[in-house]
Amino acid sequence: MKLYCDPPRLDWRETGPVAPDFGDIYFSVEDGLEESRAVFLNGCGLPESWQGCDHFVIGELGFGTGLNFLAAWDLWKKAGPQEGWLHFISIEKFPLRVADARRALSAWPELAALSDQLLEQWPQPLKGAHRLRFNSDRVTLTLFQDDIASALPQTEACVDAWFLDGFSPASNEAMWAGTVWPEIARLSRKGTRAASFTVAGAVRRGLQGAGFAVGKKPGYGRKRERLEAVFDGPVYPSAPTPFPRLLPKQGPAVIRGGGIAGASLAHALRQRGREAFLIDPDGLAGGASGAPSGLLTPRLENADRPHVRATLAAFEYARQLYSDLGLLEAEGAMRLLENAGGVSRYAAIAEAMGEGYEVGEGGLWMARAGRFSPADIVRTLAGDRQVITEPETVMEASLVIDCRGPVAALDHISPGAGRVMVMPGEPPAHSIVWGGYVSATNDHRVLIGATHEKSAYPGPEAEARDHLLADLEQHCPDIASGLRGNMEHWSGVRATTPDRLPVSGALPGYEFDTVWRAYARGGPVPADIDPDTKPQIILSGLGSRGFAHAPLLAESIAADLCGEPSPLEKQGREALHPARFRFRELKRGD
Ligand code: SAM
Repeated sequence: MKLYCDPPRLDWRETGPVAPDFGDIYFSVEDGLEESRAVFLNGCGLPESWQGCDHFVIGELGFGTGLNFLAAWDLWKKAGPQEGWLHFISIEKFPLRVADARRALSAWPELAALSDQLLEQWPQPLKGAHRLRFNSDRVTLTLFQDDIASALPQTEACVDAWFLDGFSPASNEAMWAGTVWPEIARLSRKGTRAASFTVAGAVRRGLQGAGFAVGKKPGYGRKRERLEAVFDGPVYPSAPTPFPRLLPKQGPAVIRGGGIAGASLAHALRQRGREAFLIDPDGLAGGASGAPSGLLTPRLENADRPHVRATLAAFEYARQLYSDLGLLEAEGAMRLLENAGGVSRYAAIAEAMGEGYEVGEGGLWMARAGRFSPADIVRTLAGDRQVITEPETVMEASLVIDCRGPVAALDHISPGAGRVMVMPGEPPAHSIVWGGYVSATNDHRVLIGATHEKSAYPGPEAEARDHLLADLEQHCPDIASGLRGNMEHWSGVRATTPDRLPVSGALPGYEFDTVWRAYARGGPVPADIDPDTKPQIILSGLGSRGFAHAPLLAESIAADLCGEPSPLEKQGREALHPARFRFRELKRGD
């Protein structure tokens, strides 16, 4: 199954872009922006509706060119509250290519300052949820790239205003299907507004059936009518699950662990104005996050599965974050072919992943990969506040997050030592990866990595050196022959999990087995479960991909704690939930 979405077929007319498959326009160049303002912004009572909110959530069906998003962002800048965040969630099955989006949005010079920022971050067409941040205006965009029927159930948010903008119901039934309305209701609260350009009977009946009071208003321009609606319940409590989101929680956070997990979390919380203290007896980047050089590459798995979508989205999010901070050498990386069978395996991966991956003679070229200095990233994200190193420090906080890597408090995490070596020589122009890897360091030396050991203790230096050098000679003899001078060793301990995926969220509590055993073996969902209001929270198990995965997982934890929309698809969040191991054990009857 391919992991990317197809682009739309587009015709360009004087009136703007048209989708011939739907026989409808994205917007009219004559008055599209004014129409967007009249139908959606005004139709949802904006800007008045968001006054006094510490965050406001808009949900949209049909992202298209992003014009509605830009119109909302523009209004937020001009007439938004002084503090707080605008979160815009949108669903799109056929993401425009960036060049087409640029062409479409060039019709609106007055939005150029915002559209330039959007286009700079325009997501890859990968399926799944993609979180973009526009920090200086306190705006986030979460784009679900998938069919509406798949994307809506994956959305976790409480929406304040809906923009229903999915082409005409006559030409696009899927966007207005009966299954859409219960999902819209699930994601709404009492008083949530909805607006649309269409007053088609099926749309009105759908909204009414889901609990909206629906009204017709005079339409914009040549359109006779438009729709406004207000949700009046009933509001359904979310179904009990062994993998719940974290509940919102006030107050300062104490983060244990000064590696990439802890630093990402401190950064994500402080962006939201929350206080966060980092504690680590070894200081910042004292553990596995302190390697002399790091490689940012995507996890390669050729399957459209929830964890694959989530980890690819995390890679893209980290890439954007480090690029924005000026801390990524985005030079690409080559994954060497291991054997003849590798060609077809990599060709399948390149085919599934779409843009940015190419198979050539040498192997799989990953244009979006890069290299970085791990300690620089950790220090920048952790900010200029001191990390607390005194082991005797006593702090009182109701919010403690365990980011201690291999010693984090989850039975299923095990430590695995790893060594790398750094030597003078001629480093490659871009990193080269096989089972091991070779790359440049920021001070232009050669880094050779890495051993993977089964315990917390790295083996003897000489053994690791012989192994790494032999490996390099076999795969990159030219680089190996140019090595000279003194070799430096570095070792760290990674946190690994049985499925090699990270853990992020609440640890299963004492009641977990009792509550979920029967369900795990095929029984009914247990009723009346008290939510765990004081869970132990963990972000760990990052293995050798901490820098690719930590920022988005930290964003997800921070979003939960602040009651914001999740940046992850529901299934992706669950695939990385700390309770998954215990749940699997219960399923097996352990
Ligand atoms: N709001 C957009 C803007 O500001 O440019 C215009 C949206 S356009 C009228 C409708 C959008 O719905 C198109 O981008 C189309 O690709 C998308 N769409 C159509 N069918 C869909 C489906 N089944 N699931 C998700 N998106 C769909």
